[in-house]
Amino acid sequence: MALNIRGYAAQSATSPVAPFTFNRRDLRANDVDIDILYCGVCHTDLHVARNEWGNARYPVVPGHEIIGRVKAVGSDVRNFKAGDLVGVGCMVDSCQHCAPCQQGLEQYCLEGSTLTYNSLDRQDKSPTYGGYSQSIVVREQFVLRVPDQLDPKSAAPLLCAGITTYSPLKHWKVGLGQKVAVVGLGGLGHMALKFAHAMGADVTLFSRSPGKEQEARRLGAEHVVISTDADQMKAVTGQFDFILDTVPHQHDLNPYLATLKLDGQLVLVGLLEPIDPPLAAGALVRKRISVGGSLIGGIAETQEMLDYCADKGITCDVEMINIEDVNTAYDRMLKSDVRYRFVIDIASLG
Ligand code: NAP
Ligand code: ZN
Ligand code: ZN
Repeated sequence: MALNIRGYAAQSATSPVAPFTFNRRDLRANDVDIDILYCGVCHTDLHVARNEWGNARYPVVPGHEIIGRVKAVGSDVRNFKAGDLVGVGCMVDSCQHCAPCQQGLEQYCLEGSTLTYNSLDRQDKSPTYGGYSQSIVVREQFVLRVPDQLDPKSAAPLLCAGITTYSPLKHWKVGLGQKVAVVGLGGLGHMALKFAHAMGADVTLFSRSPGKEQEARRLGAEHVVISTDADQMKAVTGQFDFILDTVPHQHDLNPYLATLKLDGQLVLVGLLEPIDPPLAAGALVRKRISVGGSLIGGIAETQEMLDYCADKGITCDVEMINIEDVNTAYDRMLKSDVRYRFVIDIASLG
């Protein structure tokens, strides 16, 4: 057992994320032990630390956008060796035998995938602790290879914000000639703009925040619509083939439905609560619209996305912080004051 690993944890819904020391399990035969270098700050970290989804198991050590170097490997590990630059995303295990797992869709594992934090280990039932910490032990199948071309700091958010936006854009076959809109310009939104643009779509950003127009264009949007401006919303009625909605809170989806074409699709990645206000079913029926959702992406697809980013020169726009600044980062994230992902330099753990 690796004793006295330093990390940061939330001890309750109302306490700030603060220093916390814990142990990591001994390496099993198929485990990889990773010294963490960088960890992105996802809005999910905040949702879970503050128990906004009602499922927090305290202490919560958040962090699932992890980049690190392999320190040691178990006796059966063949694909990684000490010194390799690797990534870990939102999952660290799954059953590996159900139909979704067999298709490489571990995030939809019928037994429930083991999340990087706030889950229980499948074997010893110990709590999983995430990347706001010095090291992590992960089953080999859930470790990603970080291509040499990627800068490790700006690659960290690819492990969640990257794959969560890449996967639905691929699944719904976004590409050349399509008009695609992204709702919300935060960590996920900025990657969605980059990917949709790289895939050849004509991209629009819906934002509540005036002042993000220039930035959105730099990130790949051709057009920006201020969603609180009724005239601007009306001007894009019936325009889009596909909308990816990254907003983290309940909000009215009906104005966005009006901007979809016949057969248009609205896919949610930010919202886990019930849709409120309700959807006007008539708007769906009259234009054969579907509304769906999408959860991160499978391990093979995450590797594909990392390789795609290396190939296309796609990186995340990050602001580096020390770990003691993470609570301030949460507050800034809530004010949409992030350009566009905070990444913790884990060396600041001391
Ligand atoms: P983020 O960086 O805080 O960005 C969210 C953006 O949404 C904000 O920058 C803001 O953009 C907009 N927004 C925020 N509050 C809003 C409101 N009340 N109404 C309308 N727009 C609002 O968050 P993130 O890290 O990208 O995460 C977004 C959501 O995705 C979170 O709920 C997170 O838990 C979830 N998530 C889901 C998955 C999945 O697998 N499905 C994976 C990762 C994260 P503007 O200022 O441009 O309006
Ligand atoms: Zn995340
Ligand atoms: Zn499974």
